[in-house]
Amino acid sequence: MNTNKQSTTLLVIGGGPGGYIAAIRAAQLGINTTLVEGEQLGGTCLNIGCIPSKAIIHAAEEFAKATHYAKGSAIGISVASPAIDLAQTVKWKDGIVGKLTSGVGALLKKNGAKVVRGWAKIRDGKTVEVTQADGSIVEITCEHLLLATGSKPVELPFMPFGGPVISSTEALSPTSLPKQMVVVGGGYIGLELGIAYRKLGVDVSVVESLDRILPAYDEDLTKVVAASLGKLGIKVHLGCTVQGLNAAGDGVRIRNRDNVESELPADRVLVAVGRRPHTQGFGLEGLSLDMVGRAVKIDDQCKTSMRNVWAIGDVTGEPMLAHRGMAQGEMVAEIISGKKRHFTPASIPAVCFTDPELVVVGQTPQEAQAAGVEVISAMFPFAANGRAMTIESTDGFVRVVARKDNHLILGWQAVGASVSELSAAFGQSIEMGARLEDVGATIHAHPTLGEAVQEAALRALGHALHI
Ligand SMILES: Cc1cc2nc3c(=O)[nH]c(=O)nc-3n(C[C@H](O)[C@H](O)[C@H](O)COP(=O)(O)OP(=O)(O)OC[C@H]3O[C@@H](n4cnc5c(N)ncnc54)[C@H](O)[C@@H]3O)c2cc1C
Repeated sequence: MNTNKQSTTLLVIGGGPGGYIAAIRAAQLGINTTLVEGEQLGGTCLNIGCIPSKAIIHAAEEFAKATHYAKGSAIGISVASPAIDLAQTVKWKDGIVGKLTSGVGALLKKNGAKVVRGWAKIRDGKTVEVTQADGSIVEITCEHLLLATGSKPVELPFMPFGGPVISSTEALSPTSLPKQMVVVGGGYIGLELGIAYRKLGVDVSVVESLDRILPAYDEDLTKVVAASLGKLGIKVHLGCTVQGLNAAGDGVRIRNRDNVESELPADRVLVAVGRRPHTQGFGLEGLSLDMVGRAVKIDDQCKTSMRNVWAIGDVTGEPMLAHRGMAQGEMVAEIISGKKRHFTPASIPAVCFTDPELVVVGQTPQEAQAAGVEVISAMFPFAANGRAMTIESTDGFVRVVARKDNHLILGWQAVGASVSELSAAFGQSIEMGARLEDVGATIHAHPTLGEAVQEAALRALGHALHI
C-alpha cells in the first residue's frame, strides 16, 4: 500500500478538548496545523466523559423528580408513577454528543485546521505515521509535535473490565439497568454516576479505601455530599478494599480495616478508581521524554524535555480536567505563533456534579495556612438564601478565603444545588485580584444563589446582612 506523505508546521495528536482547542487557535493564528484523531473528535470529554455524564445525571434527576412527585409533594404537584425508556435516554444523550462532536469538526474546518482520521504512531519528534481505517498510511512530518492523547480508566488487575465489571464508558450507555450496582471508588466520577444510577432506581453501594468520600476535597464540603448519599439511600463502605468478584460472579468481596471480609451483592460493578495518562502503544516511549510518574513532564509553557515537542491535558497528569487542557492548548498555539505566554493561572476550578454539587476554586483555608498565609474565611449557608428556599435546596453553603492583611481573595468553596454555575464568578474574582470589599460592594441580582457569594464576602468583613 502506498504511503501518503504530508508535512505541516504543527501536528496535534488527539482531538479531545486539549488538542482540538490547540488546533483551532493555531489555525486562527495562521499556523499550518494538522490534527490526528483515532476515534471521534471531542475526545473523552465530549464522547465518554463530561458531556454524556452530565446528560445522564440530568435524565436521572428528572426521573427522580417525577418519582418524588408520584408520592405527592409539598409544592402541590402529583403525577402518576413515572417510567423511563432507557434506550431513548441513551439516544437523547448520543444526540447531544453527536451535535457537539460534529460542531468540533466544523470549527476545525472553518478555521482551516486539517484533520487526519486514524491512529498516530510516533517515529521521532518530527515524524508521525497515521494508520487510517482502510489500512492506508499517512506519514506526516512537522516542525512542532503536540501530544494531547488524554487518559484511560485505571483497571483493577484482579477484576478487569468485561462482563459485569464496567468502566464509566459503559456506565454512560447502559442497555439495561442493574438491580444492584457496586461502585468501586468514591471519587467524583464514581459518585456522579452512582448517584445517577440510584436516582434511576438502582440499589447502589460505594466502596472507598480511604476513610471518606471525595478524599481530594475539603471535608466541610464533602460532609454535605455524604449526608445526601445517606438520604438518597446509597450505602457507603469506607476504609474498605475490593478483593474481587465472588465465585458466582454475582457479588463483590470487600475487606475492611480489621481484615474482616464481606460480600456486596451486585449484578454490575462500576470501577472508577481513577484515570492514567495515555502514554503507551503509540511510540511515545521512543522519544525518551522526562516523565513524572506515568505523566509526560512539562514546564510552565507545556514544553516537554524534547525541543518542539509539547504536551497538554490529561497526558500531563493532574488535574485531569477538560478546561485545564483547553487553556493549555490555547496557550501552546499562541507560543508557537510567537506570543509570550506561560501557564500560571491563579486558579483552576474543579466541580463535582454530585447531588448536591460541589465547587472549589483557589485555596481552602487549610491550604492557605499551610502555605504560610494568614487568612480570614467565612461561609454563608443556603438555608439563609431566599432563592435556595424557592428551589427547595437549602443544603450547603458558600465559603470565601482571603488574606487577612489586604483581603485579597484566595479561594472559594461551595456545596449546594447548581453551585457549578458559581464557578465563573469565583474564578473571575480570583483571576482579577478582587478583594472582599469588591465582591461585597457588587450588587448581586435578587433572588439568586449568587447573593450567598456576596454575603460570604460581607460576612468575612464582619457585616453580613442576612445572617
Ligand atoms: C465520566 C467522566 C466524566 C468527566 N467529567 C468531567 C467534568 O465534568 N469536567 C471536567 O473538566 N472533566 C471531566 N472529565 C475529564 C475530562 O474528560 C478530561 O480531563 C479531558 O477529556 C481531557 O482532555 P484531553 O484533550 O487531554 O484528552 P482526551 O479528551 O482524553 O482526548 C484524547 C484524544 O486523543 C486520541 N488519541 C489518543 N492516542 C491517539 C493516537 N495515538 N492517535 C490518534 N488519536 C489518539 C483519543 O482517541 C482521544 O480522542 C470526565 C471524565 C470522565 C471519564
